[in-house]
Amino acid sequence: MPDKKIIMVTGGTGLVGKAIETVVQSENRVDETWIFVSSKDADLCDLDSTRRLFEKYKPTHVIHLAAMVGGLFHNMSHNLDFLRNNLHMNDNVLQMSYETGVRKVVSCLSTCIFPDKTTYPIDESMIHNGPPHPSNFGYSYAKRMIDVANKAYHEQYGCLFTSVVPCNVFGPHDNYNPESSHVIPGLIRKLFDTIDNGGDTFLVMGTGKPLRQFIYSLDLARLFVWVLREYDEVEPIILSVDEECEVSIKKVAEELVKSFDFKGSIVFDETKADGQYKKTASNKKLRCYLPDFQFTPFSRAIKESVDWYRQNHLLARN
Ligand code: NAP
Ligand code: GDP
Repeated sequence: MPDKKIIMVTGGTGLVGKAIETVVQSENRVDETWIFVSSKDADLCDLDSTRRLFEKYKPTHVIHLAAMVGGLFHNMSHNLDFLRNNLHMNDNVLQMSYETGVRKVVSCLSTCIFPDKTTYPIDESMIHNGPPHPSNFGYSYAKRMIDVANKAYHEQYGCLFTSVVPCNVFGPHDNYNPESSHVIPGLIRKLFDTIDNGGDTFLVMGTGKPLRQFIYSLDLARLFVWVLREYDEVEPIILSVDEECEVSIKKVAEELVKSFDFKGSIVFDETKADGQYKKTASNKKLRCYLPDFQFTPFSRAIKESVDWYRQNHLLARN
């Protein structure tokens, strides 16, 4: 019997945490105990609270998802909060992991932290090559520091602290609050409410032209579990769908209209910000490790996400 792992997932109640919970519950492995924690268990911005959490569960492995997370408009108005909250959480989690002898930590970056002015596709070597897009510089610099810290913990103490870089994520259990949500949950909520109110116009912010790669949370969860078990580099790895799967915001709106069977029209509010035009990322490194990994087709993942929201909107984070 291999060593028993105690795997603590910070941010375990969020979009990605819930998806990982779904994936590991379906496997039921006897050599792993999974613990999913939220801000109710500890405020990770606070060192003492973080220390008590580590003392309570004594994890051997940590998946660190907890973060202040939000869409373009929330980032634009709260850069300082994104910077400070995320710097504190990341520093506390990594330091407690080191002090308590955690064997491996997998933290989470994002493709939106890469330099704004860059060549495409983006790859893992380019994280620190220039300033991020001004809309989310607070979040971006805090996240970039995880990679710096991982290398420093490795160099100074030999720790195996690594990170993954997902593209935009969506799926069940997302944040549907119109002020802070990302584009897909924001638009799911908006279209659901439009239909509920008998409206015939689906108002989408921006021009609809920006391009994004979207990964279904349940696909990302399977990749996270693989990284935890098999990926032993300190260097980050991009977890993204293939470059050909990049879609415009207009295409996202059209897929949502199809899934909801909405008969009205889509209108773009071009007075609202578009954010970064694109951040096309290469998943070549991932494909070298997992050439046959199958991503859920975008339209099916959108339909499942819409159906989940229809069934759970009263309990969803609104
Ligand atoms: P999410 O749904 O907003 O969930 C955030 C989680 O963090 C929740 O469990 C929340 O706990 C917890 N949390 C927030 N502040 C905390 C604090 N002070 N102390 C303890 N826990 C705290 O986020 P997500 O979308 O799953 O994101 C997970 C990770 O993926 C993040 O690191 C994010 O940066 C990264 N990521 C996300 C996307 C995306 O499109 N969503 C894309 C790339 C990378 P409560 O439930 O108690 O509030
Ligand atoms: P980003 O990928 O980090 O920029 O984050 P988002 O998930 O917030 O996506 C932003 C893109 O979607 C921008 O081009 C916005 O103009 C567009 N968008 C359209 N409608 C919405 C909406 O309701 N909420 C958000 N967050 N973005 C929207």
